[in-house]
Amino acid sequence: VCPQVSGELDDCHCDVESIDRFNNELLFPKLQALLQTDYFRFYKVNLNKPCPFWTSGSHCGLRDCTVKPCSPYSAEVNSELDKCEKSEALGAVDVSLRSVSTREALKNWTKHDDEAQRFCLLDDEWCPDSQYVDLLLNPERFTGYKGPEAWKIWTSIYEENCFKPFTVKRPLSPLYSSGRSEGEGSRAFYTWLEGQCVEKRAFYRLISGLHASISIHLSARYLLSDEWFEKRWGPNVSEFRSRFDSELTQGEGPKRLRNLYFLFLIELRALVKALPVVKEGSFKLFTGQPQEDCRNKERLLDLLHTARSFPLHFNETSLFAGDETEAAKLKEDVRLAFMNISRIMDCVECFKCRLWGKLQTQGLGTALKILFSELPSSPPSSRLTLNRQELVALVNAIGRISTSIKELQNFRELLAEDT
Ligand code: FAD
Repeated sequence: VCPQVSGELDDCHCDVESIDRFNNELLFPKLQALLQTDYFRFYKVNLNKPCPFWTSGSHCGLRDCTVKPCSPYSAEVNSELDKCEKSEALGAVDVSLRSVSTREALKNWTKHDDEAQRFCLLDDEWCPDSQYVDLLLNPERFTGYKGPEAWKIWTSIYEENCFKPFTVKRPLSPLYSSGRSEGEGSRAFYTWLEGQCVEKRAFYRLISGLHASISIHLSARYLLSDEWFEKRWGPNVSEFRSRFDSELTQGEGPKRLRNLYFLFLIELRALVKALPVVKEGSFKLFTGQPQEDCRNKERLLDLLHTARSFPLHFNETSLFAGDETEAAKLKEDVRLAFMNISRIMDCVECFKCRLWGKLQTQGLGTALKILFSELPSSPPSSRLTLNRQELVALVNAIGRISTSIKELQNFRELLAEDT
């Protein structure tokens, strides 16, 4: 009953077992330690941007979709969240928010944040609606967001932004199969996909890997019981099986898990390529606490060196090779498609899902930027630079994928106990 995912991955010389070992034993513990630090736990995001594509409603009704702001004050600048907060018991603001040290750390840290070197202006950072969110207070988990609204987002991502030719008639993708049952549409979809160039296939696989990771997280931190005095979150094996078991998904589940591993390889490779930038003396991880900053930089460098020690890295030069003009056009197409997907995140009606969706697409966008930018050995004008928001998004994004891979091992063990 375990979803079978093993052996070599397509389009790269790496196998699932090597990734499992490397991630679970080496990378995962280091990432977890880093993600607990003030520098990486506060993420600046604008959760109030209107959906640019259609009129979307609001999922304030779902309690588990609420995002707890970092400080009680930031609720003032965010009226939608304010409404959501009020719909919850006001006393629900986490006790740690009231801790003086957390507030002080945030205050010092925002002061230094503006000094960070910037590659480009990101709307989210400059818009007055943007606020810092404490990611540790808002874990990615089951929220109850589902049905036509959630499907509309996934459909729009796969159907309109994964390079589908307009001439192909629906049903095209697994999305158009009814419910979770995958069938004819799925076969037609894969035939189409196999005909695509390696870059477009890779693009689809990254998005599908991200989708798989979200499905793993919501299954691993499922709402198991909801009593008035306590909510209990934990792994839901049948939810996991319904999404990934080969029989229950007509073979789709294991393919999606393989896409998750592919996404891991891409983000891991980007971490390695970020190493020269992070090593630079000017790159400080400001939190306003110099000793802590120094320790964090050491921890981050240690993580990046660990990432570099992986022997089976994805070779990004296999993408966008060939004819220069065509490669440049393809790269621009991929860039625009990805930009569009990040905009779709503003249409996600569940704020918690929107938060993690935005963070993970920004993390992946940063990984793509790193992989396809020049290295610091190039002339200064084309040097790769990263700002704080990009680095925080990248490290958290790979943190999510790394956790998913670790969760897979837990599910394998739970499934083995069941049989
Ligand atoms: P869905 O996951 O909605 O999938 C729809 C269809 O897509 C499936 O029927 C299948 O045909 C196809 N599909 C499924 N997985 C893949 C894949 N990996 N690759 C390719 N095709 C696939 N819910 C939460 O509880 N917590 C969250 O944090 C959360 N975050 C979300 C973030 C975003 C950006 C979005 C759009 C949704 C989020 N959701 C979250 C909702 C969640 O993803 C599902 O939509 C929801 O649980 C309903 O699941 P479903 O079984 O209907 O299938």
